[in-house]
Amino acid sequence: MAAESQTESGNCSAWAAKDPSGVLSPHSFNRRRHDDVSLRITHCGVCYADVIWTKNRHNDSVYPLVPGHEIAGVVTEVGSDVKGFKLGDHVAVGTYVNSCRDCDNCNSFLDNHCSKFVFTFNGVDTDGTVTKGGYSSHIVVHERYCYKIPDGYPLEKAAPLVCAGITVYSPMMRHNMNQPGKSLGVIGLGGLGHMAVKFGKAFGLKVTVLSTSESKRDEAISLLGADNFVVSSDKTQMESLKNSLDFIVDTASGDHPFDPYLTLLKVRGLMALVGFPGEIRVHPATLNLGARTLSGSVTGGTKDTQEMINFCAANKIYPDIEVIKIDYINEALERLVNRDVRYRFVIDIESSLK
Ligand SMILES: [Zn+2]
Ligand SMILES: [Zn+2]
Repeated sequence: MAAESQTESGNCSAWAAKDPSGVLSPHSFNRRRHDDVSLRITHCGVCYADVIWTKNRHNDSVYPLVPGHEIAGVVTEVGSDVKGFKLGDHVAVGTYVNSCRDCDNCNSFLDNHCSKFVFTFNGVDTDGTVTKGGYSSHIVVHERYCYKIPDGYPLEKAAPLVCAGITVYSPMMRHNMNQPGKSLGVIGLGGLGHMAVKFGKAFGLKVTVLSTSESKRDEAISLLGADNFVVSSDKTQMESLKNSLDFIVDTASGDHPFDPYLTLLKVRGLMALVGFPGEIRVHPATLNLGARTLSGSVTGGTKDTQEMINFCAANKIYPDIEVIKIDYINEALERLVNRDVRYRFVIDIESSLK
């Protein structure tokens, strides 16, 4: 594990995990300032990625580790080359803060697939520093990875859009799921799943939520506006849905079988996978006989991300969030592990991080 000097005089206040226990506590460090876009962070969403890296689940965490990649804030300073942002603008920063800006992927705004992609926290930036995320007072980011939050869109609601929102919006658009009248199944009803339901309804789709828990039926239908709710362990309910869906968005991150869901798709139907189960096993007949597609996706490019934020503002799509103070973060991460959140925690950095 790389050591890092911890100075009392760091210009950025933060909360950091100091070791793989993943327990966060106050920390200060230095960020660069006078270039790119400087943001005063007002809010930061809490993503499962924060659990993975604060607890060193991938054995690559560098401590102290400041998590957070659903950032919303206000521009406080811009470098002389910055063209798209000015002081006072409301801006979001998502899961990455750099890429080469010169490869085929970057040139097609698939920056999220650039080989030099730099993760917003625990990534190694081009200057060799380990990136630190949004559980902090401010951040400095190249303007390409900053997104405008339209006037009137609440900053606390904008934060989850740049990870949870774009992660489902990107494959939904790529696979033309915005066709009114078609049918969509959404597996899992967490931060990502609840956004997939909202986008599905905004696209005019008939939305079925597939969940392991009957207890989510009411909220899926009355709160989120889903048309149908199916308990995935109920064979009769699953049977009645066979060959009926045009699309499925699978947001479940835990291990689960794939054949029972794929057979719900019509001929030529498509399932977009956005979670990271331990392994995928599919009987070839499930795909071949129905000419079905299983597709993968991770976050989204810079152009898609801005488009998604604009779409949310124009269609009044808002994530359902629970706003917390920074000193509640350790409990919040525990609750997130136990799936006890509707549907995203957002830290009120502005009022609670001193
Ligand atoms: Zn995330
Ligand atoms: Zn690139």
